[in-house]
Order: sequence, then structure tokens, then C-alpha cells
Amino acid sequence: MRFNDVGRLDGKVALITGAGGGMGAVAAHLFAQQGAAVMVADIDGDAAAAVAAEIVAEGGSGAHVCVDVAAEAQVKAMVEETMTRFGGLHVLYNNAGIMMGADDNPVTTEMDVWHRTIDVNLTGVFLACKFGIPAMLASGGGSIINVASFVAHMGAATPQIAYTMSKGGVLAMTREIAAIYARQGIRANSLCPGPVGTPLLAELWSDPARKARRVVHIPMGRWAEAEELARAALFLASDDSSYMTGQSLIVDGGITSAYTTPE
Ligand code: NAD
Repeated sequence: MRFNDVGRLDGKVALITGAGGGMGAVAAHLFAQQGAAVMVADIDGDAAAAVAAEIVAEGGSGAHVCVDVAAEAQVKAMVEETMTRFGGLHVLYNNAGIMMGADDNPVTTEMDVWHRTIDVNLTGVFLACKFGIPAMLASGGGSIINVASFVAHMGAATPQIAYTMSKGGVLAMTREIAAIYARQGIRANSLCPGPVGTPLLAELWSDPARKARRVVHIPMGRWAEAEELARAALFLASDDSSYMTGQSLIVDGGITSAYTTPE
């Protein structure tokens, strides 16, 4: 018996939002190296263009599109551009997400923070599915990966109430999409990272006391590398996970399984 760990996405077209930086950019490189044509989508068009150019320079197939995932017309155009450029859509990786600095507890969090967080983290996923699912059905099916978070499963006394709520909504939406399209060749799963060393966390963890307050709850005692999440996403994107749909894949160094952590 032979196993082949290359080309796990051969012949597939992957659209990754928020792929101009952080985990999305790492996944874009990994997916391209596994044979996918990758559409790099980001609100930062220059960053998206740079990632796509790197993929092409490495011999892969990549292109970019500038999009605010919260804007319906832009998301529609993103999917159309993917279909025009690559002729299909098989992996829809809804990775774009924000955590705003002023997102706190229910008493202090302002409505503009609440609304923008929902617009990007929840409506953005909905819109990408709204326009992406017909494209995937026309392409013979595929895999949707919606990025949530471990905080969709646990309450945190270091609060970010809008973010946590938006990620909980991602889990519910993903389950329903999975149920609707299970017999039409589309799978949908959530990916729930623990803390990952990306720019999103850099500000939050720049204060040593705030960082220590959180690291103590991670059994592994460290945050994740972006590649560790990209590899989990690769599993969900590829046919390796062909019997898995509607699930929440938690990649969190043990946080959600632990009551106490090692000394
Ligand atoms: P990041 O901030 O490093 O990168 C996010 C990317 O999304 C950026 O390139 C940004 O320009 C882009 N983006 C932001 N708003 C956008 C919009 N409206 N439209 C299109 N693109 C937009 O973040 P990351 O840490 O790589 O996080 C990726 C995903 O993982 C997010 O959904 C985040 O909520 C989730 N997550 C992150 C962590 C963590 O610890 N970093 C933990 C759990 C979940």
C-alpha cells in the first residue's frame, strides 16, 4: 500500500478569504503546493496580490481579488472572478475575520463594534456561501471551511462578546449548510483554532500580563503556529475528510478539554 502526501488538492480550485495575511496566507501557499489553483481574497488588495505573486513565483497557480467580505456586491464579484479565472470552485475557505480592540463585555461594548464584528465574521461567511454554493454545485461539489474559534465552545472571562457571539453563529450556520447540501456533494465544517501566532493576536498579547493570563489555560503552554491550522484546513479541504460534514474541528492545544493545566 502506498500513500502519497503530495497533490492532495490536484485539480481543485480554492477560494480563501483573508488570505493576504495570517493563517489564510499560509494556507494559500500550502493549498497551492498541494496542487490547487488558489484565489487569494482580502480587503487589503496589495497584500493579496503579494501572496498570489509568491504562489506564482513558486510555480503554483494563484490570483488575487480585493474584497470586503461584508459587502454583498463585492463578494458576488469575488466568486464570479474565481469562476472566470479558474473555471470552477471546489474549496471555499471562509477565513477572514476580525477581533476589534474595543470588543469587551456586554455593558461596555458599543454598537458599532458589535455591528462591524457581525458584518465581517458572520455575514461575511453567509455571503460567501450565498454566492459560493451555486458555483460549487456547478463545479460538481466540494468543501466549505468556515473559521470559527475555540471561544465558540467556551466562555471567556477575558471577554470579546461580539467576537464570541459571531463565532458561535458560524458553528450553527455551518451545521445547517452541511445538512442542506449533504446529498449534493458539498461538505461544510467549522475550523476552531485556539490562539495562533498571527497579527490578530499580536496586539492582544503584546502586554505580558494579558498574555500570561491566557497562556496558563493552554495545556500545551504555547500558542499555535499558523501552519498547524493550515494543515488542519488542508484535511478539511481534501478528500481525506470525505465522510466528515457539519462538524467543528477544534485545534487548540487542548484548551477545550482541560479543567486544569500542567504546572
Ligand atoms: P489576521 O488578522 O492575521 O488575518 C486576517 C486577514 O483577513 C487579514 O489579511 C485581513 O486583511 C483580512 N480581512 C480582515 N477583514 C476583512 C474583510 N472584511 N474582508 C476581507 N478580508 C478581511 O487573522 P488570523 O489570526 O489569521 O485569523 C484568521 C481567522 O482565524 C479569523 O477568522 C479569526 O477570527 C480566526 N481565529 C484566529 C485566532 C488567532 O488566535 N489568531 C484564533 C481563533 C480564530
